[in-house]
Amino acid sequence: MHLLFIPLFAYLKLYVLAATNILSVSVYLYAIFGLGDKTLITHDDRAIGWLVYGEIILHAVFATYYLGLESGFHYYIYVLAILPFFTQRYALKTQLFRLMGIVAVSLFLNIHFREHQPLHGVTRQYIFVLGNINLVLFLLISSGLVLLYSQHEQKHYNQLRNRSMLDPLTGLYNRLFMVEYSEAFFANKTTDARSPALLVIDIDHFKSINDRYGHTYGDHVIQHTATTIRRIVGSHAYTSRWGGEEFVSFIPDISPDVLETLCRTLVNAFSDTPVTLEGIRIDVTVTCGAALREPKESFSELFIRADTALYKGKVSGRNRCVIST
Ligand code: GH3
Ligand code: MG
Ligand code: MG
Repeated sequence: MHLLFIPLFAYLKLYVLAATNILSVSVYLYAIFGLGDKTLITHDDRAIGWLVYGEIILHAVFATYYLGLESGFHYYIYVLAILPFFTQRYALKTQLFRLMGIVAVSLFLNIHFREHQPLHGVTRQYIFVLGNINLVLFLLISSGLVLLYSQHEQKHYNQLRNRSMLDPLTGLYNRLFMVEYSEAFFANKTTDARSPALLVIDIDHFKSINDRYGHTYGDHVIQHTATTIRRIVGSHAYTSRWGGEEFVSFIPDISPDVLETLCRTLVNAFSDTPVTLEGIRIDVTVTCGAALREPKESFSELFIRADTALYKGKVSGRNRCVIST
């Protein structure tokens, strides 16, 4: 903006203001390239803040002094009024203090320059046009800043939401998401006609894998298990890491026959392919308990049936799938 104003001021023969704008551009270049690098290292951008606030206030005061209030250069100070609350990094007291400073400067300009005669004798027509350009720019900058802020907040919110739904080790959904999603699915009348199923999958003798090869290897086995489950149950199911070495898959609609085939394929996928990491090869097997939803059954009732089936699979020798009847 400052760059755009330089030729305009030169055209109006307002050379002092053109020079002021060149100075302002230098200040911003210094803030970006001189202080910017340091800020990246120190994470302290207060110097940039002071420089930008100082530049905007001094420039607006000087231009108002030079061309009068009607030229609208004081609007740029109003932009600053929305800035103190953009960050939560400073105490509320500090933010309010800044706001009071901006209010004070704005009032001072409004009162002090009300009757002030411009130093430079540009025609009233030019001043009128300048005033309107500045009004439009002020409105665009203010709403642009609010837009940037809301987009930043939205991005931040999405990141937090993703993190709250996902398990960091495997990238699968976590237990919280699974419970919320399944309960919402069951509460929705439009899904009544579907036949959902739940799979509870647990790695066999995982404790001994951890004890023998260490936790890092254990984590790798958990990741491998997650990838394999996701590959087998496919993208139509929601798979979560329920906790530790236990996984839960929710399939929104499946027939008993397909469920049986799927469970068998899943268990075999593990027993057929050993896991290898850093030259160590181990056989990993899983036990799977599954249950098809009965009419009107709640999520926790369905879970208990699948979990009981898993327990039956464990006591009857592991490396197998048991479907609740
Ligand atoms: P079973 O065949 O009966 O399921 O035996 P198991 O050894 O797999 O079952 P158990 O519940 O006794 O062991 C689970 C182990 O999982 C115990 C715990 O130390 C380990 N564990 C839980 N979370 C993690 C994790 O995030 N990383 C690793 N490496 N281990 C974990
Ligand atoms: Mg286990
Ligand atoms: Mg377990």
